[in-house]
Amino acid sequence: MYHKKNLNEILQQANILTRSDLSDKTILLRSCLNLTINADGKIDDITRLTESYPTIESLALKCHKLIVIAHMGRPEGYDKSLSLFPIYQIIKSKLDTKAISSEFCIKPENKNINDVKVVFIENIRFFPGEESTEELTRNSFINILLKDVDYFVNDAFPDYRESVSTYYLSTKIKSYLGPSFVKEIRGLSSLSTPKRPYIAIIGGSKLSDKIDILKEFIKTTDGILIAGAMAYTFLKALGVEIGKSLYEEDKLDIAKSIINESKGKILLPIDHMVCNEFNESSSYIAKYTNTSQVPSGMYAIDIGLKTINLYKSVISKAKTILLNGPMGVYEWKNSIKGSYEIYNSIIKNIDAYKVLGGGDSISTLNKLHLAGFNHISTGGGAMLTFLSKERFPTLDIILDQFEL
Ligand code: ADP
Ligand code: MG
Repeated sequence: MYHKKNLNEILQQANILTRSDLSDKTILLRSCLNLTINADGKIDDITRLTESYPTIESLALKCHKLIVIAHMGRPEGYDKSLSLFPIYQIIKSKLDTKAISSEFCIKPENKNINDVKVVFIENIRFFPGEESTEELTRNSFINILLKDVDYFVNDAFPDYRESVSTYYLSTKIKSYLGPSFVKEIRGLSSLSTPKRPYIAIIGGSKLSDKIDILKEFIKTTDGILIAGAMAYTFLKALGVEIGKSLYEEDKLDIAKSIINESKGKILLPIDHMVCNEFNESSSYIAKYTNTSQVPSGMYAIDIGLKTINLYKSVISKAKTILLNGPMGVYEWKNSIKGSYEIYNSIIKNIDAYKVLGGGDSISTLNKLHLAGFNHISTGGGAMLTFLSKERFPTLDIILDQFEL
């Protein structure tokens, strides 16, 4: 778990919105706008834009000039399908309603457009300097981005890997955190002193993404409820028949050792929703099993009814609950029930401090039209890193400028 002395006080100082001297300042803001635009041009899940926009608007109202940078997807050079222009258009229409002028800029060199309040730069990953490992290349890109800038602000908690716009800029200029970043850290750092019992519910796709966090949870929580595809790597490792269910062959040994280390803290599904084909075709049949065995030739796609009841009874007694990953293939109508029942029982535990994080976990919540978590983290990998490592480089590089 991330750890820093006097964290709350330092966060207060590092939050750009606590400064009162912004009216003559030019600010370079790193936002998280890593959305998915489908082939039909529609945005898959708007959460990150909803979360990032208020910072853009409030800084634009307070400062002299605001330059916004962000990335989308994993382009290698220019890629029209990953242009931020459609996102800019949505932001522009919102800024227009507040009479805030804005302009889209395809080259960082041209960012100092006169008489415009907000300049929005094209996908920062289109430019080779952003992810370069060469110090010289990075530095010349940094010089371009920081020309005529007074402060850098990082508001992109989910984009936690060290690149120029998430990390190296902060090594060269007075830097602050944006309010979304601060909110994430406050929401997650409450888990360092949890009310007990503290349980983690981990679902989703791959065990390999979540090994570090499971090891951490064995130390910090009172119970770990496993669901999703990774349950089948654990069950297979324990010699349970899993049919054709998704699992990771090269993680069986690690799964076994995690179970051994966990001293009974880990619960696994005791029954399942299974289907005969791994897609919702016309010949697709889905049904519940009665035992932990998955019939041969079948795929487990959700937790079963007995598992739902077992997990609900643990959830109802918890005082702190962290959820990451849906319980099953929530994209299909026959295998969303497990997530619905588990999410709902968490929300019904009104006394508990409840945190949810992860892209698909949020999509599941939105699909189910549920609400009631105390904190929703927009970063999946970032949240798990924050909860399993003592340091968080994109945060530390800024907080170190504010040591008390
Ligand atoms: P998050 O983005 O919240 O961290 P993950 O990316 O780890 O979550 O996992 C989400 C994916 O896991 C979904 O696409 C879902 O279909 C898949 N999944 C969940 N349960 C199963 C299962 N039993 N078999 C196959 N895929 C599953
Ligand atoms: Mg995901």
